[in-house]
Amino acid sequence: DYPDAPIGAVLAGSARRYRDRAAVRDGDQVLTFTGLYEQAAAFAGGLRAHGIRQGDVVALHLPNTLWFAVAYYGITLAGATACPANPAQPAKSLRAQLADCSAAAVVTHPQPAPVLAEAIEGLPVRLVVIVPPSESAPADRPDDRAKLFGRAGTTLEALVAGQSTHPPDVLVPTDSVAQYGYTGGTTGAPKGVRILHRNIVGNTIQVACWRSGALPGLDSEGGVVLNPLETSADYALPLGSCTALCVSPLFHALGLISLNFFLLCGATTILSGRFDAQSYLEQVERHRITYIPGAPALWHALLATPGIRTRDLSSVKAVVSGGAPIDAYALEKLTEVFPNAAVIEGYGLTEATATVSSGPIAKAGLHKPGSQGVPLFDTELEIRDPLHPGRKVPRGKRGEIWARGPQVASGYLGRPDETAAQFVDGWLCTGDIGHLDEDGFLYVSGRSKDMLIYKGYNVYPRELEDILGGHPAVLQASVVGREVPAVGEIPVAFVVPASERGTSAEELMEYVAERVTPYKRIKEIRFVAALPLSPAGKVLKSELRRLARTTGDPGEPLS
Ligand code: ATP
Repeated sequence: DYPDAPIGAVLAGSARRYRDRAAVRDGDQVLTFTGLYEQAAAFAGGLRAHGIRQGDVVALHLPNTLWFAVAYYGITLAGATACPANPAQPAKSLRAQLADCSAAAVVTHPQPAPVLAEAIEGLPVRLVVIVPPSESAPADRPDDRAKLFGRAGTTLEALVAGQSTHPPDVLVPTDSVAQYGYTGGTTGAPKGVRILHRNIVGNTIQVACWRSGALPGLDSEGGVVLNPLETSADYALPLGSCTALCVSPLFHALGLISLNFFLLCGATTILSGRFDAQSYLEQVERHRITYIPGAPALWHALLATPGIRTRDLSSVKAVVSGGAPIDAYALEKLTEVFPNAAVIEGYGLTEATATVSSGPIAKAGLHKPGSQGVPLFDTELEIRDPLHPGRKVPRGKRGEIWARGPQVASGYLGRPDETAAQFVDGWLCTGDIGHLDEDGFLYVSGRSKDMLIYKGYNVYPRELEDILGGHPAVLQASVVGREVPAVGEIPVAFVVPASERGTSAEELMEYVAERVTPYKRIKEIRFVAALPLSPAGKVLKSELRRLARTTGDPGEPLS
């Protein structure tokens, strides 16, 4: 059972419990839990004073600064709907998102204001709020950015001036839309997902309990709090004394759920919008970071950093990977460079707020490398036959992953057909293929869209990627299909070689052939310097499929 409360109740509960502890930090700027609550309340009051009403959409066009946290909680306290947008995207795609969600207001930072001015031209955006510079978002020119937006432009200081530090008196229903979460855009244009207050609070509590071993409850004023159990000491997120480093973008599900559950656990979140591997490692050492979430692209960047093994990374207790499949190389090396950490994987998607399953983080927990863990509390998983979605497949067999739980969102924004196809009777069809083992652990084989059919047989790229990743000369590998008349699709592998040891396409194809049944053999290898990534750090298979269609001798290096 979960407290049925709006997001503001999470912030209020933590403010009462953790008061003067640092809640968010960005460079030299720090907000305590009380400070974050008061600033967010003033922000909510400011939005309402500027005519923003319940149900209006307020876009967040910000990197990971502490002002993101202020604005996000402020928007939800005001009963408006938050819509995080990638601040680094070009004007055209930003405009498409702002038009799609009918944004009434945008909160932005000093640097990319001109891009935003171009994106909103002619759109019915009534208010643009510019937050102060910070380490993650410095001002590039000292001129008055608010002027760029004419009457719509204002600064954060002007918005909150004279506002109360108590939230406005607004009843926020838990089944109202708290956020339009846009999917990662890995398989096509990003889709807006209608995420309700109860979905976010549900998923925040699920993840926070899973990581801290505590139980949720309400304080005397209706704030959501966690109550530790005796066994909680064995978990990686001890309530109120954990420090997390979050460079995962807050405009994406993984980053935002992390911020939410860190807040509920009383953890200090160090936000950083500009990633630089050396300064990331310095921050881990300086702040004695205990918890780091991230996608595989982050781990690869860290592992490639010169001198990583000379750093003192002993404070880290949990390395939590999600958003995309992690490969065997990264999994193994992470356990070496973070000697005291549980390296675990979670699985989820924007349509389920963020997280569906996760590896256990208790010291005594059962770890199964290669698995995406077990369903979070109150989450049901079913593996169904993709051709007959009403039918479950036997345990151990692969099929389409369906999920049900408090985190499953209420559908897509403006896409009734896709909503009807994927959100069925409280269940979410994830579009991913996977299986459950005898202990109920989930193994995701990839997206159904990425599966290849070769001579009538199903081939799962993930299986081949895992095998290739186990070869010492391979740093990263991604497999896609290329259509060949009469046989269907042949598997083509794109390989980023490890620098220490040379290899050849023949050697790698032979290596895979020794480990799979003949129909799964890789028919072509292409060496590349890096894999193309989406803004959320995922491999863009659509781009690799396009490259695979271009002719090139097997093994020929591509630029
Ligand atoms: P779009 O739906 O726009 O194509 P997207 O699928 O990347 O983008 P997200 O919600 O960002 O949208 O990502 C969810 C997807 O990421 C999942 O459906 C799954 O395919 C993949 N994923 C997430 N975590 C994992 C994991 N641990 N292992 C394998 N795949 C994962």
